[in-house]
Amino acid sequence: MATARIDQLRTGLRRRADMFAHRGDAVFCPACGHSFARFKDAWNRPDALCWRCGAHERHRALALLLGRRPELLDVTRGLLHFAPEWCISQLVDPRINPALTYRYVSTDLDPVGVDLPMDITDMTAVGDGEFDAVICSHVLEHVPDDRAAMLELARITAPGGWCLIMVPLDAGAASSYEDSAITDPAERVRAFGQHDHVRLYGLDVADRLTAAGLTVERISPQEAFPDELDRCRLLGADLMWLCRPSA
Ligand SMILES: [Zn+2]
Repeated sequence: MATARIDQLRTGLRRRADMFAHRGDAVFCPACGHSFARFKDAWNRPDALCWRCGAHERHRALALLLGRRPELLDVTRGLLHFAPEWCISQLVDPRINPALTYRYVSTDLDPVGVDLPMDITDMTAVGDGEFDAVICSHVLEHVPDDRAAMLELARITAPGGWCLIMVPLDAGAASSYEDSAITDPAERVRAFGQHDHVRLYGLDVADRLTAAGLTVERISPQEAFPDELDRCRLLGADLMWLCRPSA
């Protein structure tokens, strides 16, 4: 326990030192509201990570969306947050942000640190239309039966509500690439980009969502936030799929 506390203190001190070393106003993180001279390079990408909150480019895009469309957080039934990212939780969890008053539930297949552990392809603990807001970012690429997951997402999202989906995507590919025979972690890195991904999505992810009974609004950072693309160092490929149950 004492070791964990020391590690936590070390991490906090390192973060403060990094923030100081990179102080400036060339880039802006809309997730935590801090500016820096640049972001941290990671995964062979320049300006990937926020020094303060760890937001990636896709988190910064999502934070901008929530900021630009505050009506999304006019939640009455509740918000379900899959694989909750720390930087996004700061924006949508009423336990952290007391200005929000709705019911918030975090979930993951891994039970550590979430309110409701469950399998996204079989959410028996959740009723039909139980949530009017669902955030599911960078989850479906881990799920072998993503069609079952999408059907469940459509089922639990209330009529009039929304479900925000993001997946790693080859924006130049019309079709997703998947091959269930590829199970070796190193092979998966080569084929899908990460050792535990089971496919690399193409633009047909929208068709899959539609087939599951969702109406899909495609939100491109380039089209939605042209004024913030450079300052927030967003990636054009970080498409957001704002889905609503089809009538
Ligand atoms: Zn940040």
